[in-house]
Amino acid sequence: MDSNSLISKTATELSGELEAGNCKAVEIAQAYLEQIDRVDGKVHAFLHRDDDDFLAQAKDSDERREKGETLGPLDGIPVCLKDVISVEGQPLTAASKILQDYVSPYDATVTRKLKAAGAVIGGRLNLDEFAMGSSTENSAYGPTRNPWDLERVPGGSSGGSSAAVAAREAPLTLGSDTGGSIRQPASLCGVVGMKPTYGMVSRYGLAAFASSLDQIGPFSQTVEDTALLLETISGHDPLDSTSYPTEVPSYSEVLKQKHEPCTLGLPKEFFGEGMDDEVRTAVEKAIEFYKGKGYEIVDLSLPTTDLSIPVYYVIATAEASSNLARYDGIRYTSRSERAENAVDVYAKSRGEGFGEEVKRRCILGAYGLSSGYYDAYYLRAQKTRTLIRQDFERAFEKVDAILTPTSPTPAFKFGAKSEDPISMYLSDVYTISTNLAGLPGLSVPCGFTQSGLPIGLQLIGKAFNETTLLSIAHDFDRELQFGRQAPNLED
Ligand code: GLN
Repeated sequence: MDSNSLISKTATELSGELEAGNCKAVEIAQAYLEQIDRVDGKVHAFLHRDDDDFLAQAKDSDERREKGETLGPLDGIPVCLKDVISVEGQPLTAASKILQDYVSPYDATVTRKLKAAGAVIGGRLNLDEFAMGSSTENSAYGPTRNPWDLERVPGGSSGGSSAAVAAREAPLTLGSDTGGSIRQPASLCGVVGMKPTYGMVSRYGLAAFASSLDQIGPFSQTVEDTALLLETISGHDPLDSTSYPTEVPSYSEVLKQKHEPCTLGLPKEFFGEGMDDEVRTAVEKAIEFYKGKGYEIVDLSLPTTDLSIPVYYVIATAEASSNLARYDGIRYTSRSERAENAVDVYAKSRGEGFGEEVKRRCILGAYGLSSGYYDAYYLRAQKTRTLIRQDFERAFEKVDAILTPTSPTPAFKFGAKSEDPISMYLSDVYTISTNLAGLPGLSVPCGFTQSGLPIGLQLIGKAFNETTLLSIAHDFDRELQFGRQAPNLED
């Protein structure tokens, strides 16, 4: 099978080809390495590659298959991880200078589960430093470019993970989503991206940003592949105290069964001003599609929506200031060579190692937690967070899922928002409340602008009901398959 045809396939299709004996895992791995060689000079999705290790894992998979010891549908399928997820013996930089020499001493739980499923773990993917941002412009190692238009951002913070799938440099990737960092880049790059319910996927081995919001989740070309990857990485983990003891159904089996149309809610706060016209048109078409399938569409209101960005930036920065205190020039990190005494080690190592946005957030967060301000900021934000969650609970008494655009605009140009943090923060206006409420959310490609930029549709589900959410998304994706279209990266 030629390498162009291999890299255009979904993970589910590749799995079928391996099972039928039509190709080898080593050929798949080689095809992806060739594609990375061909396009990553332009896209810059990868921060680090270990090709020998990648090919060795693929060879192990082929040997297992020859002996009839295949570990499951992901055996032999490449999966690449955002550079905040630990893989033993591999670097983890979080796209920060402060971790430039750090090597993970152990596997994250998701990594361990992927290895146990026979997946072939590939290179490390770019992001905004410590997952803070919406464009990958905050990476200390240079931005990733949107494969659909190299002058534009891929979204963020998991921009390397979304761009790698869009550019066919990997069939599956993982990212993390604290306020939209999986769904927004998925939308801007025209691929499927899902944030599971808080507690569904273990975060053991994930470099923490804001612990009450962070979740790991998949990127892929199709909802079918997302289901396959999600069922592999989900489930209770005693090593993560926030991981929830719940059964993980086989989502990919569920998608094979017929799904009855149900009720979708349109929150009026998500369809107001600030939305690009072409985004609106594409989302309205998707709504018509669902109506045509027999879904009931109801209008609803989530009145606290406009509070979600301020609440998020108090809570997320407070948690970040505490989580990032561990990077002190002594543990994990590179140490300033100019430090002359103990206080200097902390101050100079952090001063030199952290980028501007990370510093801004640590300062903001420490301020919101400081005595005298705690009640006015942090406590008030927590109380408002409860109101946001209750808004969703009321909505879910009437509907099975909520449908919104994922991002108010398609991919924007480099520099368009990087000088203005508030306008950058606003690009997550539709995704942040899902994290504050701990709910599962997914972005599925729903069309393109006239100039060929992808547009994404967001579906938000009930807590721990990934099954319904994936089924609803699959109803759309199975027929329209916008994520299967690939950008042209030839010269
Ligand atoms: N863009 C948001 C931020 O900058 C969300 C990031 C994320 O989900 N990791 O914080």
